[in-house]
Amino acid sequence: MIIFAHPDDAEGNCGGTTVKWVREGKIIHYLVLTNGDKGSDDPSMTSEKLAEIRGKEQEAAAKVLGVSGITFLGIPDGELEVSLPIRKEITRLIRLHQPAVVFTHDPWKVYQVHPDHRAAGFLTLDAVIVARDRLYYPDQLTQRLRPCIVNEICLFGTDYPDFWVDISESIEIKLQAVRCHESQGLAAKEVQERIRNRALEVGKAKSYLYGEAFKKIVM
Ligand SMILES: [Zn+2]
Repeated sequence: MIIFAHPDDAEGNCGGTTVKWVREGKIIHYLVLTNGDKGSDDPSMTSEKLAEIRGKEQEAAAKVLGVSGITFLGIPDGELEVSLPIRKEITRLIRLHQPAVVFTHDPWKVYQVHPDHRAAGFLTLDAVIVARDRLYYPDQLTQRLRPCIVNEICLFGTDYPDFWVDISESIEIKLQAVRCHESQGLAAKEVQERIRNRALEVGKAKSYLYGEAFKKIVM
């Protein structure tokens, strides 16, 4: 399960790993917390229109990667808060999908200035903890949801990577998925090159041609 703040956060951070794991037969589910309705400089764009465009871009990108399903929480962009109601909803979705591994933003990344990225990381970590124990939100368990033991959390955008994935065979599909986010300028050649070069740089740590890196927390 990949839990992230905005439509487009997942592909750049872990799109190569997603493709690789899908090829290995793993089922990947996306949980997109906000609707991304603030990311536009176009004076004729409205938040309503943008949220719709970004939802469609996210669906197209997920399809390219082979993601099995997406849940959109639809919280307004920039307004994600570390709050108990949102934690509860993420807990419900973790209990529903029963992931063995959860990917999310590293909320401890130094100088992480985007409030949604910090909040998404903290909310997800908090939800993983409470999803495990049946006495948290027992009202959920009467709706045929089971407690969920997540084995590992992989934090992306981290300053302290300790888990590298060789994405040499999936870099092209990752870039194709990133290109789906046209409204965010991610189809531009220089942006694509920047992402490719970043994967080259990350891969060097393990002598992979292209890589993605994470901080892994084993629960
Ligand atoms: Zn984001």
